[in-house]
Amino acid sequence: DDLRRAAREHPERRAVVVWHTDGRDTETLTYAELERRVERIAAGLAGLGVEHGDVVTLQLPNSWQLLATTLACARIGAVAGPVLPIMRKRELTFMTRLTKSPVYIGPVEHRGFSHADLSEEVAREVTSIRHRVLVGGGSAGALDFDTALLGEPGTDGAFFGDTEGREAKPDDLAYVMFTSGTTGEPKGVMHSHNTLHATNRMQIDALHLRDDEVTAMGSPTTHNAGWTWNFTMPLLLGATCVHIDNWDAGLMLRVLETERVSFFMGAPPFLVDLIDRQREQKRDLSALRTFATGSAPIPPVLVEQARDVLGCRLYALWGMTENGAPTITRPEDPEMRAAESDGSPVPGMEIRIAGDEDGTGRLQVRGATQCLGYFGRPEVYADNLTDDGWFDTGDLARPDGHGGIRIAGRDKDVISRGGEKVPVVEVEAALLRHPAIKDVAVVAYPDDRLGERACAVVVPQGEPPELPSLREHLDGLGMAKQYWPERVEHVGELPTTPSGKVQKFRLREQLV
Ligand code: ATP
Ligand code: MG
Repeated sequence: DDLRRAAREHPERRAVVVWHTDGRDTETLTYAELERRVERIAAGLAGLGVEHGDVVTLQLPNSWQLLATTLACARIGAVAGPVLPIMRKRELTFMTRLTKSPVYIGPVEHRGFSHADLSEEVAREVTSIRHRVLVGGGSAGALDFDTALLGEPGTDGAFFGDTEGREAKPDDLAYVMFTSGTTGEPKGVMHSHNTLHATNRMQIDALHLRDDEVTAMGSPTTHNAGWTWNFTMPLLLGATCVHIDNWDAGLMLRVLETERVSFFMGAPPFLVDLIDRQREQKRDLSALRTFATGSAPIPPVLVEQARDVLGCRLYALWGMTENGAPTITRPEDPEMRAAESDGSPVPGMEIRIAGDEDGTGRLQVRGATQCLGYFGRPEVYADNLTDDGWFDTGDLARPDGHGGIRIAGRDKDVISRGGEKVPVVEVEAALLRHPAIKDVAVVAYPDDRLGERACAVVVPQGEPPELPSLREHLDGLGMAKQYWPERVEHVGELPTTPSGKVQKFRLREQLV
């Protein structure tokens, strides 16, 4: 067990630091203290009757409670079921029903929203839920986290059970993580301790990360990127992970400076926010060496700004909840590679581009980090496997010319203009250089003659730009006319998932 070893070897090193957006004091746990709490919580979960293979629903904001409870699940062979704090009744009901979860753990309330009420409503419908445990105080019918899972022996309401010999084996299920729901209903991805470990090892090796790293992250820990980059990976390294309980770019810059964060992972929208704020705040970010970004297309203009404004090396990566980060640009690569590439395969992972026509095809992958399947949906997972055993990602990619790949979008987001494919990601990247465009998504709208045409859905900055201005701009960049959007819509913001991905299916629905 990696945590036990770390607690023995460097008990006083900081494992977890949590900053709060509401101004509460920062909380710090050393490896020894984290280990102590994990042991205690494991006994508590056993006392609640959690069995081997049970999924414990964890709808917690970024917090040490989330990390410690997850690690405690492994001590009794239970499975962590992280759920984003922002999920509401519809999603939480769907997820807990699917996983038949017996225990819900969440905050009493978070950002003015009552998870006590939410979980009570959900538990009324999802009969598998036997216990609700709330961080920040119990409520009618719910247990208090501190009392039930951390209380001293003899305390009223403290739970204890036997954990002896119950530790998870490497091939046991470690967690069920839901996909972002960018293309529709989220899938519950099953990872074992082995597949998770493989992901973490590859991250560490690919970016040459060290045990004196201080890591931080933009998105929630309950999303796969936060889970693997700012929780399991730093703890496996024996490093320090720093969390803030809700995204706030201004606060994060302060955290980066104060905690001397050396590694940051964040999807492009978080990078955009940080660059914007750093232009005003001018924090000392000299400790920040490595910034990894991915999860969504990375506009080249961002790569330049990251170097100029944040002063760090930027690495691009491509990954999915299903398989972690199979491709990453390499530290030994020239710095600007992130502007042209989404990385080359990490050792232990193989990729191929299938159905080659003009070089672009379906990206398929196999290797040690690949998940075990979709919880309760074996047929949906099987649909994504090829006859010869590769996982078809649903993403389109082309070779980057250096042994790596460039993601061209999702097959479902392809715009086929009379059979001619519009290079959506490149058109978006080009439009982002337009001075009056803050954000943009290029999506298909139906057309009687050509089947589909391209519409630019624009979040303007300043005067909303009209079609001629967009076309002039793309013409100026030398882009062929058949790729220019033929319609423009102005919106206040794009519909995104909490992990920062644009839900194009929602935009398409509106563009009839
Ligand atoms: P769902 O599967 O529920 O529709 P999702 O696929 O967005 O949601 P995630 O597993 O969080 O859920 O995201 C994986 C997807 O993110 C990839 O399939 C890919 O489309 C996109 N992605 C990841 N990295 C990149 C990247 N570097 N460039 C472009 N897209 C990326
Ligand atoms: Mg997906």
